[in-house]
Amino acid sequence: MNVRPASVQAPPVLRGQSFAKSRATVEKPSRPPQKTRSAAEQQAIAQGRVEHLLKTYFDYGPDRVQVKICPKEDPQYYMRTNLSLCEFFKRGDRRAYQVIIHPDAVEELDEAAFNAILIHELVHIEGYVRAADEKQPNLWQTIWANIRGGSHLEHQEKQTDIRALEKAYDAETGSFDATVVEGLKTYRRWIYNKLDTNAAIIQKKERYLTPEEIDHVVEAIESNPAMLAELLAHPPH
Ligand SMILES: [Zn+2]
Repeated sequence: MNVRPASVQAPPVLRGQSFAKSRATVEKPSRPPQKTRSAAEQQAIAQGRVEHLLKTYFDYGPDRVQVKICPKEDPQYYMRTNLSLCEFFKRGDRRAYQVIIHPDAVEELDEAAFNAILIHELVHIEGYVRAADEKQPNLWQTIWANIRGGSHLEHQEKQTDIRALEKAYDAETGSFDATVVEGLKTYRRWIYNKLDTNAAIIQKKERYLTPEEIDHVVEAIESNPAMLAELLAHPPH
């Protein structure tokens, strides 16, 4: 790097250029790997993980989930669940839900982090599937909550995080599968890093469990399993 003596100041424009150059040099190694996979390959990876996680943790089939890789997906999310208009008009017990995934999530997240946030999305779909199969009104409450946003949504998203962690809880041993726990924490740190405004980061931290809150939830349940029901009713905030 070109180090100037403190007394010799370059004109502002030049200083800016030299700053940009040195930043580029420093940042290069931490850049995400080049995307080499095609959209079809990314789709196949995501689809395979959906099928594996459904088999491992859920009791509904892959026919209820459509995976969509979308480069234009709102980078506030990277992964979210949606209901297409055409599926909306199908009978509830036949409806499939979309998991919309930004390519960066496939390319940059390690498998544990990708799977952990995918479990969160599959928990949402589990709720919709159950509500539709049982003809419960919850489905519309849930959709209404998504429209209203605010604290109602915060409660629901944190509850979904706890239910996702619950999938990784073994009641016999009284402990959690660390891969899922650490994966969800890694995902949260990754997304804080991806967001470009403080307001967006603050909103994420309010709406979803932070890595510290995840640790808190896991420790609380491991020391007293009855805390699971308590935390689902009153997620940390
Ligand atoms: Zn969610």
